[in-house]
Amino acid sequence: MARVEIQGDLCKSCLYCIKECPKDVIALGKEVNSKGYQYVYAKEPENCIGCAMCAQICPDAVIEVYR
Ligand code: SF4
Ligand code: SF4
Repeated sequence: MARVEIQGDLCKSCLYCIKECPKDVIALGKEVNSKGYQYVYAKEPENCIGCAMCAQICPDAVIEVYR
């Protein structure tokens, strides 16, 4: 089973990962990280298929995908 891990504290809220995910796993949270960005999280982790599109598109390498 695939698992996605997002380091919220490093996220810059570009939202590319949300647009890229074919399964709508990732969503924008309400909280702000230490850099002042509203960060994303895995809202529907059970839907992740491990395609790693999110990890590839993230400009800050914040996302890791495990299969
Ligand atoms: S690995 Fe694929 S399905 Fe899973 S969160 Fe990333 S883009 Fe979405
Ligand atoms: S692509 Fe990376 S930096 Fe951009 S919102 Fe997603 S996790 Fe954050």
